[in-house]
This record gives sequence, C-alpha cells and structure tokens, in this order.
Amino acid sequence: MTEPAGPDGLPARRLLLVHAHPDDESINNGATMAKYAAEGAQVTLVTCTLGEEGEVIPPELAHLAADRDNTLGEHRIGELAAAMRELGVTDHRFLGGPGLYRDSGMMGAAQNERPGCFWQADVEEAAGHLVAVIREVRPQVMVAYDPNGGYGHPDHIQAHRVAMLAADLAAEPGFRPDLGEPHAIARVYWNCVPRSVVEEGFARLRAAGGNIPFEGIASADDVPGVVDDAEATVAVDGTRYAQRKAAAMRAHVTQIAVDGPFFALSNDLGQPVFAMEYYRMVRGQQPAGRADDLFAGTEV
Ligand SMILES: [Zn+2]
Repeated sequence: MTEPAGPDGLPARRLLLVHAHPDDESINNGATMAKYAAEGAQVTLVTCTLGEEGEVIPPELAHLAADRDNTLGEHRIGELAAAMRELGVTDHRFLGGPGLYRDSGMMGAAQNERPGCFWQADVEEAAGHLVAVIREVRPQVMVAYDPNGGYGHPDHIQAHRVAMLAADLAAEPGFRPDLGEPHAIARVYWNCVPRSVVEEGFARLRAAGGNIPFEGIASADDVPGVVDDAEATVAVDGTRYAQRKAAAMRAHVTQIAVDGPFFALSNDLGQPVFAMEYYRMVRGQQPAGRADDLFAGTEV
C-alpha cells in the first residue's frame, strides 16, 4: 500500500531512522517501522556500520567473528536485509555505502583507535553522507539516539552526533549544494524507554522465571535510553506488529536469540521485547500530553 503522493511526488509521510549497527533498528523500532511501512509511509533506514565487531551467538557461525574469519560484516548485510523483509521496509542503506565505516567495538576497546572505524570518522564528512539521504528522501521525521547513544557505545554516540549535525546541515542552503535542495526535518526524536515500562517488563520476565531459556535475566540498567516517564512524549503502539518485530529480531541470527516475548544478546541475559515503542521529541512543536504518532502535528 502506498500513500497518495505529496506535491513533490514522494509518499505523504516520510520517516528516517539512523542506527549504529544492523539489529539496533529491530530492537528499538521494529514495530514502529513495520507499522508505518504497512500504512504506506516511506520508511528509510540508514545504518552507520556493518557491526563487524559483534559477538556471535550460534557456535556454528562463530568463525565469522572479527578475531577469526573477520567476515561478520558481510554476513550481517544479509541479516539486515532479511530483517527488513520481515518489517516490510524496502529502503535501507549504509552510511556512505556498505563497509565505509567499521564498527568501533565497545567503549575502551583497542578497536576504538583503528583507522576507518566509525569512532575515528570526521563527523562533518560522515554527516555529509547523511545530508545526501535527507535531501533525497525529505523526511518530516527523524529518529536517532540521545547524546550518550542510549548506553555509551562509541558507534551509537557517533551516530547521534552525525544524525544531529546532518539534520542541521541538510537545511542549510549554503552547505554542499551539490547534495540536493535544502530540507528541514520537522520532528527529531530520540529513542527512549520509560522507566515504568522497563520495570514492568522485567517483572514479567522474573515471573516467567524458569521458563525462559537464557542463562539469567538482565537488569533494567542494561536497557538503553531509559528515561523518566514524563520525558517519553510519544508512544507508538506496535502491538499489531509485535510478531513482525520478533521475526525481524530473529533474522539477526548472529546477534539475538528470541524466545516468545523475551530476547537475549550475546551475554545470554533475558530482556523483554517491547511492542510499545517510545520516543522523546527534541525538535518540533511538542503536542500536549503523550502522542501516539511520530507525525502528529506535522503538515503532511
Ligand atoms: Zn548497536
């Protein structure tokens, strides 16, 4: 289903999401992406790295890891494509092209210093690649991370910096006119999860207790982007798309193990899968109370 085209020939509602690694989009926004795509909005995902430094969960794929064959990045291109098929998202790209920026590893790792890693990238140059996408797809809404990248991973912090700078530069007529007509994004949101939602999710998980297949249960502190409830100003109800979100997460075979309403990363600690996805508006006119639509108040 495609929405009626706007005056410029583009679908009426256009959403851009900027993420650090393949899998972040499905964990954070899988239900939101599936919902807007199903409604005919244009959904564009830009992923900044291939996630080459990720740990590999299935033993039979352990050889892909950076310290062995070092082919995990290529493999994850396929996982991301499979996840996008589950969500119905056809426009997904890598910042500057696949493999231009390499995963920087966790904060403090030796890989942070590696030339070519995203953490070492020139922020304005990297933002230029995103400006080209913004001016092409002309989103009203952009979803990115908070300044700490949700949980302090260098690639997530850098993705925040690049996204926010690109949003500014894309609107400036004087910046790189060769990249297209200027475009101002009406609404910028950061991913977040309200504290009460996290606590409730972990209570559910503890209640499931022995019935989950993971080694243990993560703590609420392991969830990125936890905020006071009042700061989460948009709640997208993705309940109808929860199965598709779970399927997209499952498509990231090397990174995520999904079991019913719960999942685990390579640390094998269970976390709840959230079908409600939350956002904190940082640019745009704040609607009164909690909105349920990222496009609320935008002229479409
Ligand atoms: Zn990530």
